[in-house]
Amino acid sequence: MLLLSHHPFQRSGAWAAALLAGLPHPGLLSGDGLDRVAARIAEDCERAGRLSKGEPGWAWLVRLAGMYPQSPPVHPSRARNPRPIGARVLDFLGPDPDPGHVAEQGGRVWPCWMCYSPNASIRWGKDKLPLADSAQHINNCAVYGGGYPLCRPCRIALWALPYGTATSGSALNVTVACRDESSERAVTAAFLAVSERALAEGWTSWRQGPAAEDLLWQVIADRGADQGQLDVLRWSNDNRDPRLDVRLLSPAASRRLAELHRTADPAELRRAAGHHPLDLAADPDLLTRALATAPRWAVPVLRPLGGAPQPNTTARTAATR
Ligand SMILES: [Zn+2]
Repeated sequence: MLLLSHHPFQRSGAWAAALLAGLPHPGLLSGDGLDRVAARIAEDCERAGRLSKGEPGWAWLVRLAGMYPQSPPVHPSRARNPRPIGARVLDFLGPDPDPGHVAEQGGRVWPCWMCYSPNASIRWGKDKLPLADSAQHINNCAVYGGGYPLCRPCRIALWALPYGTATSGSALNVTVACRDESSERAVTAAFLAVSERALAEGWTSWRQGPAAEDLLWQVIADRGADQGQLDVLRWSNDNRDPRLDVRLLSPAASRRLAELHRTADPAELRRAAGHHPLDLAADPDLLTRALATAPRWAVPVLRPLGGAPQPNTTARTAATR
């Protein structure tokens, strides 16, 4: 069974895995379902890993490379390895070794680092667990002797993560975490739909689709009602320049964004503000700076992102100025 843990990447991947398996909740995913999701992940890795730069489908390799540097599907020497990429992916998404056998071989088992399920002995570092230390950096995860022990369902969730991810306007991965499960599922479903299109249509770049911020804004507008705090993670696990930027959207900020989405011309407003309204709603200082330089018509439209909407002011001003 796939348990939802505290970790945003695991949670997002768990929802993506459940939706890939056609299930309404990760807790329903086990046995055959996990096998099917692992097979799907391996198949897409195999296909992407064989591409040359710019060939149809290249966007998927870009996403994998930004999450799992040096892993089998993206490693520079991937084509020279005689064993197929998909088979190597299935190897590391395979069953947990029998704990008795691990002990006989002198190994150790721990509770899973993500979900605390017992008998995890496979340890992952940066190449397969985004933003973790390298498994060779023993000093940083000395408890486990390098890497973090992960059970099979969590390993599969962490590799289903690309499907429930979208790409930001600045080309970073965007993962959204929320303790409200229906919100989390809705965001993952919206991001997954774009990932599936990219795979089916063989996108070469994520610029062919909507930016993550616009997708998320649409989900917020569609849901309207309280959806809990949304943690918006923009990140890259790039080898040289890993990045993580977290913006928190309070329930009140989401309500204001939903209202603005109903009344504003999103593209025009973004141009006028110089920032995405999601960022303005999450960061009062950024909003203050944007208001200081925005065109006059945009100021009363944008100002409510920082607090209560002002009476008699609607974003239609943008369209009718
Ligand atoms: Zn686990």
